[in-house]
Amino acid sequence: MLKLDNVTKVYKTGTFGGESLPAVRKVSFEIRPGEVTALIGESGSGKSTLGKMILRLEPVTSGTITYEGTDIARLKGKRLREYYRHVQGVFQDPFSSYNPVFRADRVFATIKRSYFPSVSNAEWHERVETSLKSVGLNPVDVLNKFTHQLSGGQLQRILIARALLLDIKVLVADEIISMIDASTRVDVLNLLSNLKARGLGVLFITHDLSLGNYISERTIILRRGVIVEMGATQKVFDNPQHEYTKMLLTAVPQLHKKWEAGLEPELAAMGVNAQDDGRPGRYSRSSLHPLANMHARKGRREFAEHELAEGLLRTDTYLRTHEEVPPLVEIEDDHFVVESTRVH
Ligand code: ADP
Ligand code: MG
Repeated sequence: MLKLDNVTKVYKTGTFGGESLPAVRKVSFEIRPGEVTALIGESGSGKSTLGKMILRLEPVTSGTITYEGTDIARLKGKRLREYYRHVQGVFQDPFSSYNPVFRADRVFATIKRSYFPSVSNAEWHERVETSLKSVGLNPVDVLNKFTHQLSGGQLQRILIARALLLDIKVLVADEIISMIDASTRVDVLNLLSNLKARGLGVLFITHDLSLGNYISERTIILRRGVIVEMGATQKVFDNPQHEYTKMLLTAVPQLHKKWEAGLEPELAAMGVNAQDDGRPGRYSRSSLHPLANMHARKGRREFAEHELAEGLLRTDTYLRTHEEVPPLVEIEDDHFVVESTRVH
């Protein structure tokens, strides 16, 4: 559906643009219908840059992004608008997507004008209401409100509702969970599962491994703009190969724990059902609980950060000293890791 082939982004930085920063290097992967692909990496690893290139908010420096076989860099005018009918993004800070002097529902009026000019107002109003309800919002709570009168979670859901009106096929969700509170977090995650069931392909960008694992079929681990490991989520999490993936997993110890009975009442209050996580090899939803193993997690994270600060990752050393990106090797079916003889 949406395919990235050797996509590279080099930003020009410095006062006169004399310095270059390779933010994304030779990244290739595919977003498939009915699947969530988790793009995981720490801050600055190039995740948002990838999302922006997919949404044509930044041009690629080299490589190609194709949608249904067409290079998106070539799209103009009507065809670009068609692309946005199918490919949309929701970002970390939903407040920045809205103009504070406009009411939140103005986002719906805008797409009606661009995409559905011939739909009657009554019919449109009905569609907006249906879409809002499908993302768990009560239309009377949000329509006619100004941005500052709504929560971050509500704004994100309005953006998702807006995307749904457009008949989207691909949704880029960039750190959408991080800024919303725990109770709505579960709702938004469930919503993404529903989108996937409707056949959408979702690129779920996060720095949080447990969220990625919870929701995705496929996982991509990005380090300094380079994919160091990717594949079926279960394989990457159960059998991590790259030093960096292992380090990330160490920092989130509760991922490997089974359901913790002690948290059940709190999770029930959050609307999480302990029984419905029947997928074998998946991790318990307790990993989503903000209090779960917080102390253990903090200690391990500090350790992992220390290791990173010490530059112990050979990948980093390699990437600092080499222009080319080492190839990915398929070590088992649908599980790739950056070539291990050169880089760990
Ligand atoms: P992430 O989303 O993983 O935190 P980003 O894609 O935002 O990472 O950034 C990757 C790298 O590119 C960072 O080093 C960041 O500072 C740099 N960067 C991002 N946007 C720009 C820009 N417009 N100009 C120059 N450098 C940028
Ligand atoms: Mg980002």
